Amino acid sequence: MTCDDGSLSPMRQNAPRLAIVMPCYNEQEILGSTISHVKDFYASCIDDGVISKDSYILLVDDGSKDKTWNIICSQSKSSGLNIVGLKLSRNKGHQTALLAGLDAATDCDVIVSMDADLQDDIQAIRGMIACWKNGFDVVYGVRNDRTSDTFFKRETAQFFYRLMRFMGVNLISNHADFRMMDKRALEALLEYPERNLFLRGLVPLIGFQSTTVEYARLERMAGETKYPISRMLALAVEGITSFSVTPLRFISLTGFLISIFSFLMISYALFGKISGHTVPGWASVTIAIFFMGGVQMLSLGVVGEYIGKIYLETKRRPRYHIEKITNLDIPS
Ligand code: UDP
Ligand code: MG
Repeated sequence: MTCDDGSLSPMRQNAPRLAIVMPCYNEQEILGSTISHVKDFYASCIDDGVISKDSYILLVDDGSKDKTWNIICSQSKSSGLNIVGLKLSRNKGHQTALLAGLDAATDCDVIVSMDADLQDDIQAIRGMIACWKNGFDVVYGVRNDRTSDTFFKRETAQFFYRLMRFMGVNLISNHADFRMMDKRALEALLEYPERNLFLRGLVPLIGFQSTTVEYARLERMAGETKYPISRMLALAVEGITSFSVTPLRFISLTGFLISIFSFLMISYALFGKISGHTVPGWASVTIAIFFMGGVQMLSLGVVGEYIGKIYLETKRRPRYHIEKITNLDIPS
């Protein structure tokens, strides 16, 4: 279904109140220029009647150690853009920072989540709002090519999507966290209580009418990625273990196959004993020990990952704390 096939109702006529939610972690090099781009974008959208005047941008400082918070505070006074700033009490990671922003933006009609480096095309938000006006509640930003990625990132991302599909998890391909949700979709999302967050897996679970808008992703203009390989890997493990028990089933299957194999080995050894052809060899024994040891350790690790997840969820600790807020009362 596309945005303009007219098959959905009702058409929304009003210019919505928009909030762009941006998690920011050590983004001092780029935040000033991001804010001025967003300001220009808002001004042109307000002029064109696409969004309402009381729209705002919500910047979540995810416990940055640089001048990110100072920039948020000073720009909220001087930039002429409605800026709300939240400062988390410490670094909690992109997904949690984004959630903190979403939690605070439920007074808007449409909410867009976006990275602070503006790698995602801000102009695509116009297309998202057009979709919203045609009745869609969730609009996923989807990259139309991945040429701005390194070869490694591109290949590992494709492998991850294939793996997730194999495990029966519904993910939108080439979609990260650039998406628009309307108020009711956001409120539905906020009902999910999990501590282990993988938002791009959760959003498709809420249902509602959804569609995609394609855009070209740019390279980061300044600063460096906050997602090195270790964090990418952690997010991938989070995604898999939060949404699928297939690895546990895979372990059972491997155990079953190894049991059959060892049964065959026993039969073979017995046959050798009866027929007098014993093969005195320690190699096969040591190989078997090491192989089984490896499989068991790996399996324990996977099971441990799930138990760890249960442990963290059962404690129901607060997901984040807000240390400071700036400019919460945006004039309407
Ligand atoms: N980010 C965050 N907390 C973190 C790491 C990242 O809020 O602990 C933010 C970061 O400031 C940016 C977004 O998450 O707005 C995505 O990070 P980045 O652009 O470095 O990731 P990449 O685009 O390289 O995957
Ligand atoms: Mg980025």
